[in-house]
Amino acid sequence: MSASPTARLNIDMAALSHNYAALKRAAGPAEVAPVVKADAYGLGMAAVAPHLARHGARTFFVARLAEALTLRTLVGNDPVIYVLDGLTDPPAFAAQRLRPVINTRVQYQLWLQGSANVVAALHIDTGMNRLGIRPDEVAALPDAGEHKLALVISHLACGDEPNHPLNAQQLRDFRASTARFPGVARSLANSPGIYLGPDYAFDLVRPGICLYGGGPFGIPHPDIQPVAHLSGRILQLRELKAGESVGYGATFVAKRDMTLATVGLGYADGLLRSFAPSGFVTIKGERRPLAGRVSMDVFTVDVTGLHVSDSTWVEILGSSQNLDDVATAAGTIGYEILTRLGARVPRHYA
Ligand SMILES: *Cc1c(COP(=O)(O)O)cnc(C)c1O
Repeated sequence: MSASPTARLNIDMAALSHNYAALKRAAGPAEVAPVVKADAYGLGMAAVAPHLARHGARTFFVARLAEALTLRTLVGNDPVIYVLDGLTDPPAFAAQRLRPVINTRVQYQLWLQGSANVVAALHIDTGMNRLGIRPDEVAALPDAGEHKLALVISHLACGDEPNHPLNAQQLRDFRASTARFPGVARSLANSPGIYLGPDYAFDLVRPGICLYGGGPFGIPHPDIQPVAHLSGRILQLRELKAGESVGYGATFVAKRDMTLATVGLGYADGLLRSFAPSGFVTIKGERRPLAGRVSMDVFTVDVTGLHVSDSTWVEILGSSQNLDDVATAAGTIGYEILTRLGARVPRHYA
C-alpha cells in the first residue's frame, strides 16, 4: 500500500482454517456456518469468505443486505447466504438468491406475499429481546404454504457466561417454540454456544469471533489460534529526563531517566485510547508498558535498556498478546477491538 507503512495487520489464513476446523470438531455433526458480517469482523470479507468456502463452508451469515450483495460476488452462486437484519427488499433477495432471517410478523407477511423463490429463516427471540419473533407469537403465524422455511434460529444472550441460568432457559424455550416447525433445521449457537456443549449445537452453528481468534468465553481458549497480528513501527526514539512528561494531558511523568519510543499506530488505526495506561506491547520479545495517552496516529512506550532503532516493529496484538488480553486491558471485548481496526492499516494475508 503506502511506501513505508508504520502499521501493519497480518492476517494468518492458516490460523483461520485451523479455527474453522476446531469449531467443526466442537460442533459435532452440526454444520458450521461462518458469520462474516462487518467485513469479517474487520479482517476483510473479500479474503476471509472465499478462504472459508475453499475449506468447505457452504452457508454464511451477514448482518446487512449490502454485505450479502458483496458476499455473493465473492463466493459465487452456490453458497447459502443469510441476512440477519431481516427482510427489507424482497426483489433484491430473490435476484441474488439471498435468504432473509425474518424477525417480525410484518416481515413474515411480506415474505408470504412475495415470490416463493425467496427461501427464508425465522428468528425466534427466546430472551435476548432484541431481534426476532416472541415465542408466544409463533403459534399465530400462518403456515408458509408454497414458501420454504429452511431454518429457525435464536440467539443466546449470555453464552459467554457458561453458568448463567438464561442459557438453559433459552435452550428450553427454543426447543419448545421450534416444535411448530418439524423437519426445519434449527440453529441456536454462536461461538460461545458451541462450547456450551452438544445440546446447543442443533443442525447448524453460527460462529464469528472464534474463527477470528477470540476465545468463546472472553479469555484465550486452547482450540483457538490468533488470526490478527497488529504491529506498529518505531518512528522516533528520545531520551527523557526524570520529571519530564509525555503526551496529551502530560499524564505520564518519568520517574527516572528513560528511553521512550514513539510508535506509528494510534486510535485512528484501532488502538483504543482506553488501552492506556494498563496496556502492554511486545518489543523484541519483551513486554513493555505504554507511557502516556494513545493519540490519533502514535502511541509512546518505555523502551529503556532495549536495543531498538527507529525501524523496529512493536507487536500490539498477535502471538505475544492475545486478542482477549488486549480487549481486557482496554476495558472492552475482542469483537470491538477487531471491528475497530482502522481502514488505513494495510492488511497482509499469509
Ligand atoms: C454476530 C452474530 C453471531 C456470531 O456471534 P459470535 O459470538 O461472534 O460467534 C451469531 N448469530 C447472530 C444472530 C449474530 O448476530
